Formats: sequence, C-alpha cells, structure tokens
Amino acid sequence: MVKGGLAALMLVATSAWAKPPASLACVQKFYAARALEKNGLWYVTVPDGSRYLYDFGGEKPFEERLRVPDVQDMFGIRYHSGPIVPVTEVDEDPGRIRHAPLFDATYPPKELVKTRFLELPVTVQRRILAPLDRVAARLRKALAANAQLAPFFKKLGASFAERSVAGTATASAHAYGIAIDLNPELSNYWRWQKPPEPVTWVNKVPQVIVDAFEAEGFVWGGRWYHYDTGHFEYRPELLDAACYD
Ligand SMILES: [Zn+2]
Repeated sequence: MVKGGLAALMLVATSAWAKPPASLACVQKFYAARALEKNGLWYVTVPDGSRYLYDFGGEKPFEERLRVPDVQDMFGIRYHSGPIVPVTEVDEDPGRIRHAPLFDATYPPKELVKTRFLELPVTVQRRILAPLDRVAARLRKALAANAQLAPFFKKLGASFAERSVAGTATASAHAYGIAIDLNPELSNYWRWQKPPEPVTWVNKVPQVIVDAFEAEGFVWGGRWYHYDTGHFEYRPELLDAACYD
C-alpha cells in the first residue's frame, strides 16, 4: 500500500516537473533566468519577476527575429566553430539574435568592471572576467609563438559602449559589456563595405585567435553573413552542443 502510494506520488511528481527544452535548460545555466512551465507552455522568468514566453511559434522574417526575438530564436541558427569558412548564406548570423530581457537581467550596469585584456584597458561584466582571462592566457601563448599576431592587439575597438546595434533600436553586446573588438584597422565589418551591396564576406583574423576565444565561450562575428570580424562576444550557450534542441 505504502509502496503503491509512493509510486503514484512519483508519477505525479514526474509530470509536474516536465523537462524544459535543451536550449531553455542552457538559458538557466548561463543566464540569470529560470524556466517555468504553465499550462503546457514554457516561460523564462527573470529575478525582477518578469515572465517571457519561450517560443511564440510560427515563422518570422529574419528582421523581425532580430528586432523582437523570443528566447528560442536565439538558438534558431546553429553556431559552428572549427575551421574558418566564408559565410555566403544570406542572414546566416548565429548569435546576432539576442533576447534583450535575458541580457538585461544577467548583465546589469552595476556589474561592469574596468580591467585589462592583454595589457589593454577594457570595461566588461564581472561574470566574464574569468573566461576572458583564460582567452588572454591562450592568446599570450599564441603571441609568443607568432609575432605576426601582435598587430591585432595593438589597440582594441570597443569593449563596453552604451550603444545600440547599428541600424536598430536593439542593445548591442557592447552595451552589456560582454564583447571585445580587436584592432579595427585589421577588422572587416559589413557596414563599412564599399559598395554596400552585395554583402561579401572578407576576413583577416587568423584561426588561432578565433580558436582562443571560441574555446572559452566567445562567439566570433566572422561566423556571420553580416560579418564583423573584429567582434567577439560571450555567448557560451551557442558553443555548447547540448544547448540545441
Ligand atoms: Zn563589436
């Protein structure tokens, strides 16, 4: 009797604790957010109590997903590390889609800190200090082995900047202090391209630099059709194979 009662209780408990989709589980792991199931729908809750539907469903044009994405949209385009390859697929921009409330909750302005990255001053989020230090350690080794890498770190572009993504009202990764730009003189950015159309991927950043960042959870703007090859941003959820449904 007791045994049967326990089994029934466990059955109830299992259905009440349905497992969130893999990407949502990763959001819990890497962001200040919790998954919540209600009436068969998944939500993301953040510490101020706000709740966001995980997946609105339906197909949305790329520009709309960029502007007002749901959480699931962040994982809609798979990020691939590995050998550098030109990006030719239109709108293949894994990581450019960010669900702003997650970033607002995880990376508040009060957690911005001034530090140094390879001796250069940067302002970043406290949460990324440790992974950024590990990137620097990898890069120091690479720099010691190859002097030709030094110009990429002669100066940096932006780290923290209160700016939105060019051409949109969306906060950029730089507004949260989770991004680093290499020397702009050796970077290629689709908005600087002349003529502006068609978008034609070009890159000078070598593999060893990209590998150092990706190994520590930073995605690279050179993996984007709308390329930004000096840009690296902390997005560990996109580099974890377990985070894709
Ligand atoms: Zn950037």
